[in-house]
Amino acid sequence: IKSRVSKPDWLKIQLPNTADYNWMHKTIRDNKLHTICTSGKCPNAAECWGRGTATFMILGDICTRACKFCNVKTGKPNPVDLKEPLRIARSIQIMKLKHAVITSVDRDDLEDGGAEIWAATIRKTKELNPNTSMEVLIPDFNGLHHLVQTVMDAKPEVISHNLETVRRLTPVIRTKAKYDISLRTLKYIADGGMVAKSGIMLGLGETEEEVFEAMDDLLSVGVKVMTIGQYLQPTQNHLPVSEYVTPEQFKKYEQVGLEKGFKYVESGPLVRSSYHAEKHINALK
Ligand code: SF4
Ligand code: SF4
Repeated sequence: IKSRVSKPDWLKIQLPNTADYNWMHKTIRDNKLHTICTSGKCPNAAECWGRGTATFMILGDICTRACKFCNVKTGKPNPVDLKEPLRIARSIQIMKLKHAVITSVDRDDLEDGGAEIWAATIRKTKELNPNTSMEVLIPDFNGLHHLVQTVMDAKPEVISHNLETVRRLTPVIRTKAKYDISLRTLKYIADGGMVAKSGIMLGLGETEEEVFEAMDDLLSVGVKVMTIGQYLQPTQNHLPVSEYVTPEQFKKYEQVGLEKGFKYVESGPLVRSSYHAEKHINALK
């Protein structure tokens, strides 16, 4: 379905062609890594890579879920690659990253949801890169908190789990995931003394009031950092964009979020969950 609204100028940016950017691209390809920066054709790649940040996707590139906004392939995932933690850790070393963000596909096919590989990836990365800070953007592990604990025990600096959208739209936009399971996952993370972070996308038909409600819900479970970005339709088979939210409105959400009590709100049309992730850590120190 084609989006009924056309893309505004503030979202049109060109992919860069600098030496740094091309070198990172080659390193990612040569090491057979999956990054969201490249697979998601993220418009911020030049900026993030230039600052020493990238987002890796682990546990393969095939997801057991099929959220309507997401461009990751769905189907039967490949077997777990036990060498993946080392490959990721080495790549972070080669890429000299100051801050690494790791996310994964959902592995509802695995008994542990992939938690052991998650923990091994964090530990290996820290072992080889003691000065690199880490944020992990984890799935809901079907609400099984002992699996979330496995990730927490590996001690990343920040753990994020995205609400993705407001309560009313959750059943339409995310498959399987439940708004309240996500909130409970975040509460478990925050109650465990870790920095909890979450994010939503706008332009899916939510109202301002519903965005404020999502903020209140996140604050009530102890989330300190929130990201708010524009949903972009990856292909015509994905949900159409119902609105391009203006930069001014994003700014308003940032101000309201800070007034409500978040320590950091990253809000703007091009914001992704991992955008400026290193700043969130520094702001919380
Ligand atoms: Fe990569 Fe995230 Fe930066 Fe996009 S915002 S380039 S996905 S680190
Ligand atoms: Fe995409 Fe995550 Fe949904 Fe899988 S669970 S389809 S990776 S958003």
